[in-house]
Amino acid sequence: MFDWLVVGAGFAGATLAERLASVRGERVAVIDRRDHIAGNAYDENDAAGILMHRYGPHIFHTNSDQVFAHLSRFTKWRAYEHRVLARVADGKLVPMPINRTTVNRLNNLALTTEEEVEAFFQSRAETVPEIRSSEDVVVSRVGRELYETFFRGYTRKQWGLDPSELDKSVTSRVPTRPSNDDRYFTDTHQFMPLDGYTSMFKRMLDHPNITVMTGTDYRAVRDSIPYRRLIWTGPVDEFFGHRHGKLPYRSLRFKHETLNQEWYQPVGTVNFPGEEVPYTRISEYKHLTGQVHPMTTITTEFPAAEGDPYYPVPRPENQELYKRYEALADATPDVWFVGRLATYRYYNMDQVVAQALATFRRIEASVPPRSANDIPQLAATGD
Ligand code: FAD
Ligand code: UDP
Repeated sequence: MFDWLVVGAGFAGATLAERLASVRGERVAVIDRRDHIAGNAYDENDAAGILMHRYGPHIFHTNSDQVFAHLSRFTKWRAYEHRVLARVADGKLVPMPINRTTVNRLNNLALTTEEEVEAFFQSRAETVPEIRSSEDVVVSRVGRELYETFFRGYTRKQWGLDPSELDKSVTSRVPTRPSNDDRYFTDTHQFMPLDGYTSMFKRMLDHPNITVMTGTDYRAVRDSIPYRRLIWTGPVDEFFGHRHGKLPYRSLRFKHETLNQEWYQPVGTVNFPGEEVPYTRISEYKHLTGQVHPMTTITTEFPAAEGDPYYPVPRPENQELYKRYEALADATPDVWFVGRLATYRYYNMDQVVAQALATFRRIEASVPPRSANDIPQLAATGD
């Protein structure tokens, strides 16, 4: 009998499995329907021996000391700060997020101070009564021209929706900067796991109390694996048989190519905001991993309506539908819903780890550990 069945071997499932096994000494079965661990963060060497990410580029960044310290138990790190260029009209490559260099290059200006750049943004910004949508966020900050150059087409491709139809939280992920800081993220911890994500996950799951079964769907084993409690990290609507209807998820198709040249592009990722091409970005892994190799591997992302569920789609009607599933989840005893798909939140890796650690604390506070149940009752009197 397993104390826990964990469905999904991504960040949510692996983090919880490790805590349950090593802190509480409980027996944990981890299953994943894919043929590997690590969920969407899975990386592997391709045929040329280049470390690449099967589900698109994953860059670790966090402001949480707690999450960073926790993952540091399972990996050493390589310092890496991600940089992104956007390919705009005439094939010009300019920094994304929009910064001083972007503004100067696009407009043939020579602004030198943050005040000048802020004044430029303000001269273009539109007044929006209330910032609600992903369009409002950008036009109220930098105006319509920069919005159309960098955000409208990219977002329409990525989500199949106009930014005006998406929650403000989506484009708010990408800042606008008056400085010439050209890093994509500014978090205090920005690293790649030194030997890759899959190695880190192997170390997390390498515990005598943990049994891992890949290529195993929950539906196939729900009645044959004996367990007491469940951690669910798959899509929440799937768990409930889509009882209230399907929650929308956005998918991607990845085109992976290994090229017989040392480098393909100057930075880790180049974004393609224009609608004249169907893809959103191309990433080159050697920038992320620091690997030295005479060849290089790139991935092009083509957004898609059908396919594996990668992104919850943040907009009010979806949030309402999710709330109905959340109510079902809250009313389901002995099942914990954790992770990006199970809580329908557009979370980065570090946020999923933080959520899993918080869930573990709730379990600690409410579920007596197995050892307490299993200690045979001592006789009231000696001998
Ligand atoms: P997942 O990794 O999706 O794991 C869930 C697992 O459950 C899956 O492996 C699935 O196969 C399994 N599963 C589902 N249903 C079943 C079932 N019925 N039976 C058995 N198994 C099941 N985050 C960052 O911090 N930085 C980045 O740079 C970054 N880049 C990203 C790029 C892309 C293209 C995408 C799609 C995401 C990116 N993310 C990034 C987000 C990151 O992938 C997620 O935050 C994280 O992987 C979520 O972990 P999870 O455990 O919640 O879900
Ligand atoms: N975005 C955009 N243009 C860009 C980069 C991002 O319009 O060049 C918008 C787009 O809607 C995207 C969102 O901002 O989905 C969040 O971008 P991020 O890079 O965080 O997306 P992720 O890495 O999660 O796919």
